[in-house]
Amino acid sequence: MSGTLFVNIDVGSILAGQVAELPISGRVPVETFESVTFPEPGEVDVTVSRASQGILLRGRVRVRGEGSCSRCLEPVSLDLDEEVDEAIVLPEGGEQRDPLALDNVLHGTMLDVDDLVRQTVDAALPLRLICREDCAGLCPRCGANRNDGACACIEEESDGQS
Ligand SMILES: [Zn+2]
Ligand SMILES: [Zn+2]
Repeated sequence: MSGTLFVNIDVGSILAGQVAELPISGRVPVETFESVTFPEPGEVDVTVSRASQGILLRGRVRVRGEGSCSRCLEPVSLDLDEEVDEAIVLPEGGEQRDPLALDNVLHGTMLDVDDLVRQTVDAALPLRLICREDCAGLCPRCGANRNDGACACIEEESDGQS
């Protein structure tokens, strides 16, 4: 792995109350998720601040994803620009153990920025990528891309529909 600018940030100074806010900004590579790839590192711009029972993460994560339309298989790119607004509550005198909680981005005083970005991006991705809402998809019979126009099969099929 190269090009990783940072993956862990020590937020100990925030937790200790020595600093009111800690800005985190930089670029973090995002791993392929399902069939979506991220050719460029994501852009992170998040401010960490102290909350009564833990820390607050507020800001944005931006990244461009690339995949293919689930209907017509044409390439699709999507620009994600996601708000981050998370409160991480620290359990009293112990470490958070729930592996499903977002809290696991915090290990002791180390904030796992890489994980925060991945969770934010993964949650923002649509279940199925489509190139556009009314994508006509591929003809199940001849495989033609129906966005390019009707194929020869269309007339026969439309008998049964509408
Ligand atoms: Zn499509
Ligand atoms: Zn066809």
